Amino acid sequence: MTSADSMTGRQQAEQSLRDSEARHRAVVETAVDGIIIIDATGIVRAYNPACERMFGFRPEEVIGQNVRMLMPEPYRAEHDTYLQHYGDTGERRIIGIGREVTGLRNDGSTFPLELSVGEATEGGQPIFVGVLRDITERKEAEQVIRDSEARHRAVVETAVDGIIIIDAAGIVRAYNPACERMFGFRADEVVNRNVRMLMPVPYRAEHDTYLRHHRTTGEKKVIGIGREVAGQRKDGSTFALELSVGETTQGDETVFVGVLRDITDRKLAEAELAILAQHDSLTGLLNRGAFFERLADTIANAHRNNTMCAVLHLDLDHFKHVNDSFGHATGDSVLREFATRLRGCLRKTDIAARVGGDEFLVIAPNVNGADGAAAVARKIVDNLNTVATVDGNVVPVSTSIGIALFPVDDGDAQQLVANADAALYKAKREGRGSSCFYDSELDQTSRRRRALRGELEEALHETQFELYYQPVIDVTSGAVLAAEALARWHHPNLGPVSPTDFIPLAEETGLIHRLGPKLLNMGCRQFVDWRDDGLEVGAIAVNLSAAQFRSGQLLATIRKAIELTAIAPDRLELEITESLLLGDLDAVSAQLDELSDLGIRLAIDDFGTGYSSLSYLQRLPIDRLKIDRSFVQQAPHDPDTCAIIEAIVSMAHKLRLEVTAEGVETAAQFGFLQDIGVTQMQGYFLSRPVDEGEFRGWYAQRHPCPRTAPNNLRVLDGSRA
Ligand code: C2E
Ligand code: CA
Ligand code: CA
Repeated sequence: MTSADSMTGRQQAEQSLRDSEARHRAVVETAVDGIIIIDATGIVRAYNPACERMFGFRPEEVIGQNVRMLMPEPYRAEHDTYLQHYGDTGERRIIGIGREVTGLRNDGSTFPLELSVGEATEGGQPIFVGVLRDITERKEAEQVIRDSEARHRAVVETAVDGIIIIDAAGIVRAYNPACERMFGFRADEVVNRNVRMLMPVPYRAEHDTYLRHHRTTGEKKVIGIGREVAGQRKDGSTFALELSVGETTQGDETVFVGVLRDITDRKLAEAELAILAQHDSLTGLLNRGAFFERLADTIANAHRNNTMCAVLHLDLDHFKHVNDSFGHATGDSVLREFATRLRGCLRKTDIAARVGGDEFLVIAPNVNGADGAAAVARKIVDNLNTVATVDGNVVPVSTSIGIALFPVDDGDAQQLVANADAALYKAKREGRGSSCFYDSELDQTSRRRRALRGELEEALHETQFELYYQPVIDVTSGAVLAAEALARWHHPNLGPVSPTDFIPLAEETGLIHRLGPKLLNMGCRQFVDWRDDGLEVGAIAVNLSAAQFRSGQLLATIRKAIELTAIAPDRLELEITESLLLGDLDAVSAQLDELSDLGIRLAIDDFGTGYSSLSYLQRLPIDRLKIDRSFVQQAPHDPDTCAIIEAIVSMAHKLRLEVTAEGVETAAQFGFLQDIGVTQMQGYFLSRPVDEGEFRGWYAQRHPCPRTAPNNLRVLDGSRA
């Protein structure tokens, strides 16, 4: 190294020293923190502008003075001791980072300081560099935090919601009084223990997994607002909780704050709402929506377990009439009563629903084939077909039932119900209060019905309708008391269609209002023809549908028929059914009175099958009762039926009503009826319904009827009927 080099080296060293000094000075001068340098005896060597701002003393007031002047009295002795100790031992007890001490300003006020002290040497002597930070604001902030913590604590202590703090290991750190009330554990029983103790067993594993997941990944899967979970009380019972979890740090540790709300009441309310949403409010049975859910489940079960289930479709007979005649309040009572009895005769596992006004559906899961399903239906019919006293009214209650079976009929819930519905329709037609199974023939029936409905109109146009006639005979004299006109539809492709098929269709479509008058006119004209030709037929009996009666057009229709055909009014007899009388009895009786005033005769058809009430018979201008053939057919072998027939006959006689027995098919029936004083009879035993030509033939060939011997009657076999 040359001297020039060494000079240059020294100069460089000096320069770099100057540079670094300048840098240091700049740092010191502009530092936000106070920087103060003292020597080992406590004399201040340096004091920067930040210190000036902090203490209020100018540098010339401080430099060369003992640093104690910047300390409040209580700190000074301590400070001296420290320095003394350092001087004696070289131990740096005084040195440290971020100690909180107190400073003294030139105005005598004190302020909090954070002090970090480092040791250095200057000219071989130890010096101490203090870095000071005025922490007045931070202290104030901390005080605010401390205050608000107290406030928070108050909130936590008095909170309605449970507040619980756990650490990342699941250990409970805090547990407020609301939690105590909720869980029944005191805080001291829970704090420092694993929070799992507050969870029902099934939740614990999941909870552990979450915490583990959080620990390993830091992912906050556990955190959320308003999750519904379950809590477990001290007594082991569980309850519904809504849980919100937040994450925060305490010190440098992650903790979880859970806010818990007991939602037992809300759950109960929700459950109640769910019940309401699933049930029919009138009867408490399931509603339609809930029914289909259960049915889908039941079918799935039956499918899985290879078992059978049945759907029963129930319909209250004549319910409309109950409503009309007794009012809706009574109607509702009847429905409630019906539902109660229905529920009462079903098994616990059976499911009952009300799906419409008077329509009910029952699922019998796990039935033993068709016989099992029929047994359920029979039980229902036995328990329900009776007379109920509701709100002081005696109301007859009966039901018809259609049954469909899974897996015999179909796999789909909708289809199964549709099948039960088709079976119900058939059951209704076969007689009220009966049950019927769905079979695929029914499908054809309902398809045929739809087709027929469309063709009725055309049939009316093209006069495909005809009347057959069946005589009503006085068996004591052999006289033909009347001919009942029975409608026939000669369908171009199907052949004869039964009136039990097309009359309901005509009623549904409203076509009855055109078909009815037409048939009436045909009957009246025919009767007049017979009289003109010398046939001694007492009257023409025409069946009326209830729809015609309610149309308000009936009287006009009758008047017109009389006018058109010139029939003597007292030769026309109208057959009406009992169900008609269940409507507004006053309105019905007014109409009947008007008809009666015209001289028309009135008969109650199918007597005994409907709401047989004797009171109306006295109030109405009825001439004749026709005992339904279902009774006649059980005579004479069924003693109960015989007793009923006898009662009807004696009652009718007391009321001075004529009595006709319909559906007389056998000599035994004939004999029995004759024995109990029935003189007017109608039925295959005497004559089937026949067309006009055959009727004339029958009339011409018959012998005068002897008084006692029915086999002397000429019985015509109307096989086409
Ligand atoms: P309904 O008024 O009770 O007529 C008697 C029914 O019993 C007739 O059936 C008749 O053929 C049948 N019958 C008569 N004697 C016997 C017998 O000894 N044994 C059996 N098993 N049955 C017998 P039909 O002609 O099929 O008529 C059925 C129903 O259709 C009638 O029952 C009536 O309610 C209705 N109907 C028929 N024609 C008309 C009509 O022109 N207008 C209205 N509104 N309804 C009609
Ligand atoms: Ca009739
Ligand atoms: Ca009848």
